[in-house]
Amino acid sequence: MNHFQLRDGVLHCEDVPLPAIAAEVGTPVYVYSRATLQRHARVFREGLSALDDPQIHFAVKSNPNLAVLKVLQQEGYGADVVSGGELARALAADMAPEKIVFSGVGKTDAELMQGLDADIGQFNLESEEEGRELADIAAQNGKVARCALRVNPDVDAGTHEKISTGKAENKFGVPINRAAEIYAMLAALPGLDMRGIAVHIGSQLANLEPLETAFGKVGALIAELRGAGQSVTHADLGGGLGVPYKAGETLPSPAEYGAMVARVTKGWNVALAFEPGRVIAGNAGVLLTKVIRVKRSSNASPFVVVDAAMNDLARPAMYGAWHDIDAVEPKGPRSVSHIVGPICETGDTFAMNREMDTLASGDLAVFRTAGAYGATMASSYNSRGFVAEVLVDGDKFAVVADRLLAGAIMDAERIPDWLV
Ligand SMILES: *Cc1c(COP(=O)(O)O)cnc(C)c1O
Repeated sequence: MNHFQLRDGVLHCEDVPLPAIAAEVGTPVYVYSRATLQRHARVFREGLSALDDPQIHFAVKSNPNLAVLKVLQQEGYGADVVSGGELARALAADMAPEKIVFSGVGKTDAELMQGLDADIGQFNLESEEEGRELADIAAQNGKVARCALRVNPDVDAGTHEKISTGKAENKFGVPINRAAEIYAMLAALPGLDMRGIAVHIGSQLANLEPLETAFGKVGALIAELRGAGQSVTHADLGGGLGVPYKAGETLPSPAEYGAMVARVTKGWNVALAFEPGRVIAGNAGVLLTKVIRVKRSSNASPFVVVDAAMNDLARPAMYGAWHDIDAVEPKGPRSVSHIVGPICETGDTFAMNREMDTLASGDLAVFRTAGAYGATMASSYNSRGFVAEVLVDGDKFAVVADRLLAGAIMDAERIPDWLV
């Protein structure tokens, strides 16, 4: 369920007609619904209600906008961050340091120090080497880092290869068959408080079986570690739950996910944590765009050229991802079109031969399910600047990220003296 619905023939976000946002802020612009974010945050939490006080850390990389983080902070969410920049954002949104976990294979010394200085809840270590480095930095600074070891369970998540993270050939985590040995080694280091295991096998998972398999392996590892005398008090089960990108598509619900987790983790006797991203933010946002012109080259379907491009929404170009595209004021019969952006690259194609609302020059349209992995992946390719973002709450809205104009980006560049 989301709060982007037609009312009297005009698409609204909550109580705000989208043409009002386009008129005031311009296009392209991402529009997020506060009510939808809240709803998803609550539905996910309710899905886990059979568990004892689970910690939920929003995966900041899916939507790092400060206002979005603030909405989730108010819902009691913490943050899963993967860079110093994301850590700074989580703190700026008043997320409690103890509710922040730091993941990622390439945390630099400076980032490890930043996490120690902020006294974050947990570092999810992705390698033995990282653990040793963090132990040294922590010990030198008289600190102790709370850590989980991220394992790679060698499970195929059955998702797009570029967002699969739990196969042996992926760069994430330590091989699960070496995890007990590495855990023991790291647990012996002063500077580290090894307290658990983390796992995250990929994103946009369409069924629960790979997750269940991965969690089963984590359960066996926890038993093995305890058998070897290690202390294990925490398990972080990551994110990955998929969302429907096509109208009518059904995916496992948070309730089904929660029931599976409750079954598999029964008897683990650990504090469980989760890192959902897409399932919270995906359907809470759209990318609002305007049709520049409709180009008819032959008798085939027309090219509808919109003012959003692959630099604003990268998923179709990057993963061949599908986004439903709807007119803001649908009228007349549907027809078949190609939807493309203005960028000089054939990859800048959002849909080919798509049966959808008929669009004419000047019409507004939305890419749905753009609240996760949307604005955050934007670039300024083709010197197009950075897309703006808006948050809606009932009948009001606010610009929560300014449009960064191409000129502002050019201002950060210079021609050296010796070149003139
Ligand atoms: C990306 C990521 C997530 C979130 O994944 P979603 O599919 O958006 O839920 C969670 N944990 C880690 C470590 C990640 O890298």
